[in-house]
Amino acid sequence: MKDINFNTIFNDIFIELQPMENPGVAASYIPELAKIDPDKFGIHLSHVDKGDFYQGDSNERFSIQSISKVFSLTLAMRLIGGNLWSRVGVEPSGTAFNSLVQLEVENGIPRNPFINAGAIVVCDVLMTYLDNPKVELLDFIRTIANNPSLEYNQRVAESEKNTSDRNKALIYLMRDFGNIHNDVDEVLDLYFYLCSIEMNCCELAHSFMFLVTAGMDEASGEMIISPSQAKRINAIMQLCGFYDEAGEFAFKVGLPGKSGVGGGIVAVHPGKYAIAVWSPRLNRKGNSYMGMKALELFTTKTEDSIF
Ligand code: GLN
Repeated sequence: MKDINFNTIFNDIFIELQPMENPGVAASYIPELAKIDPDKFGIHLSHVDKGDFYQGDSNERFSIQSISKVFSLTLAMRLIGGNLWSRVGVEPSGTAFNSLVQLEVENGIPRNPFINAGAIVVCDVLMTYLDNPKVELLDFIRTIANNPSLEYNQRVAESEKNTSDRNKALIYLMRDFGNIHNDVDEVLDLYFYLCSIEMNCCELAHSFMFLVTAGMDEASGEMIISPSQAKRINAIMQLCGFYDEAGEFAFKVGLPGKSGVGGGIVAVHPGKYAIAVWSPRLNRKGNSYMGMKALELFTTKTEDSIF
């Protein structure tokens, strides 16, 4: 890798993106998310050797939504290891994040833990193995983020609960196939709680550093998960982190990553860095329009991706 000045690269990206038209639309199917200024833009890079670099609204917290499915998956893997894979697959879905179509023909086993159905099954597993799932899940996220101030947003969780017909359809269908073991309302409650966690780009990048360092916590040096589990989570992010746009993200950016309908994206370069970007306007696949563009410019300008 050539010697890179990340400040210059961020400035250049900012200058290139600013005049660009953004055809994206902020998520409104969760009404609370529609209240956010759609033109926010922040980016933060946390590099193992070179430190931190940031631009724009990188210190403003937002709803991380599906990005937190990486944390719930990590906790479930710690709790039950490989037994998880009889309940949820590791294949890209090629369908929208909230799609029902595959579940019926595939006997209620979601394709992967990052589509809604898969994350709901992971929440069901957490319900079974944790005494106090919400508290323990938030504690776990605070631990890996090294940030005790992290919180969920109750208004967003309630807003999502009030507009949850599709997620309800998913969970009832899976329960019919025997793949939900706990009370459906309690599982969905945990799922909405998980989705409504808030972070800023800096917090998000740091909370993903354990996937840069093969499972090790950057502050304590303790192992959060094994190197083999970290490899697997990165592999699932690469293949499934962007739903039916995972191929496009791999093609244009070339890093494992995860998006959320709050407009956040985190991407990981194992051994090197985690980078988080936030821009609420989404493309048709539910991924941040400018977020994808920014990361594409980043790996293009640095001439460095995992490929
Ligand atoms: N909470 C959102 C939902 O269930 C998460 C979707 C996302 O971020 N892709 O629809």
